[in-house]
Amino acid sequence: MSKIAKLDDIVSLCKRRGFIFQSSEIYGGLASCYDYGPLGVELKNNVKKAWWKSTVQMRDDVVGLDCSILMHPMVWKASGHADKFADLIAECKKCNTRTRVDHLKEKPLPSEAEGVTEQAAQHTEHIALDAAMAKARDLSNKVCPNCGTVGRFTEPMPFKLMFETQMGANVDDSMTMHLRPETAQGIFANFRNVLDTTRVKIPFGIAQIGKSFRNEVTTKAFIFRTREFEQAELEFFCEPGTDEQWFEHWKQARFDWYINLGLKKENLRFREHDIDELAHYAKGCVDVEYKFPFGSGDWQELEGIANRTDFDLRQHQRGIRTLNKWYESDGDLTNIELSNEAEEYLKGPLSYFDDQQKKRYIPYVIEPSAGIDRSALAFLVDGYDEEEVRGETRNLLRFSPALAPVKVAVFPLVKKEGMPDIAKNIYNDLKKHFNCFYDEKGAIGRRYRRQDEAGTPFCLTIDGQTLEDNTVTVRDRDSMDQIRVSTDQLTNDLRKKLDM
Ligand code: ATP
Repeated sequence: MSKIAKLDDIVSLCKRRGFIFQSSEIYGGLASCYDYGPLGVELKNNVKKAWWKSTVQMRDDVVGLDCSILMHPMVWKASGHADKFADLIAECKKCNTRTRVDHLKEKPLPSEAEGVTEQAAQHTEHIALDAAMAKARDLSNKVCPNCGTVGRFTEPMPFKLMFETQMGANVDDSMTMHLRPETAQGIFANFRNVLDTTRVKIPFGIAQIGKSFRNEVTTKAFIFRTREFEQAELEFFCEPGTDEQWFEHWKQARFDWYINLGLKKENLRFREHDIDELAHYAKGCVDVEYKFPFGSGDWQELEGIANRTDFDLRQHQRGIRTLNKWYESDGDLTNIELSNEAEEYLKGPLSYFDDQQKKRYIPYVIEPSAGIDRSALAFLVDGYDEEEVRGETRNLLRFSPALAPVKVAVFPLVKKEGMPDIAKNIYNDLKKHFNCFYDEKGAIGRRYRRQDEAGTPFCLTIDGQTLEDNTVTVRDRDSMDQIRVSTDQLTNDLRKKLDM
């Protein structure tokens, strides 16, 4: 039976083995920002590669994109972020700590046992601020997570989540810009470019992986919610009327992706959003949730899959028509109203002409939106295990081979009788195919344990018998079984085992 990891176990393993460090640690650290170390960057790259492979490479109906983080201010006006991308917060009157209203917990009833009183946080889409306002009724029984005071909060107020920065060196042309809070808008803004430069036809998708920034109110829980993070988003464009079928398709495809990469089924589930929780533009939304080991073992969002209808493309059609007003107001977005010439929508560049059906429409969009860091955390938590082996504790990460930072470690048993030379030759050969690691220092058992903890699926050992019959031992991380494989079969054998 595998051990259920606590967050502390993960944080300490990540630090000890160079997966993840606190940002700017030498200066005391920067809250809610993290750096990926030598093993962490490999893990994260592998999560991205696995997403790209299943979403772009293996499909004929999805193309990729890589947009800039800074975008024209009108993008955020049209998308709704400039006005509405905020969390509802309340400030504790005793200690002045601000908390997201939807993250405040109820005061436990006297009958509830200690430790199990935490309730799952209500889930609120950031952008559904109006709905959140309506819901944020009564805080009289809510507890301040910092000082424990009950029911002494200010009125809930919106807190804007986009980071601001200045662009331009000259006073008269410098302007306030925002770091993107999601990658999706870059895809919508390039919809026409992609249509005009590729052979895609609806239904098709545009995929992007990249950094997003949100000045989150509540952070903590390690890399689960940070202020700078990476998203993997797909906007899948389809004909209105076919959207529900594509929604189901992507729901299943995304769930299967996590399972195929090794997450245990019992730790993963769907959660449909209630009607009053939906962003005003969304027709349907489901979260893929993972049973993260924080708080009392809450289910938490890993990925959101939304039916965004034609909202975004329509909004950008309106945005393009409003551009003149933006110039006239000297770039001040506050009083700009988006153009509302509904009858003009179909003439704009973001409409689509279906040349078989001879009809023009604004496509509907299904959006699976995943977090790379959050997925990496789920893979770390799910793969973590501790076992007693001959009176010693063995820590290991049971990563699927596709995600393992190092695929194969190569060891000479001892540093003599030419074993290091043979081992180095094998290592130099294998590293052309997989990410490998060479180590000749210390007892062999210790070397195995270090690789178990890094999640390396296979360790090869060059020993006395290698000198006689050209075979090496291949040790399996999970079972610790060792078999002998001839050196000329190694690459093929490992390829099969690693499915690469
Ligand atoms: P939450 O309510 O948990 O803050 P959200 O519903 O606002 O998240 P979305 O806007 O749907 O999140 O973002 C899509 C995905 O991006 C999330 O499922 C998550 O994996 C990731 N994500 C969003 N915000 C963060 C963050 N601050 N840190 C890390 N990952 C994030």
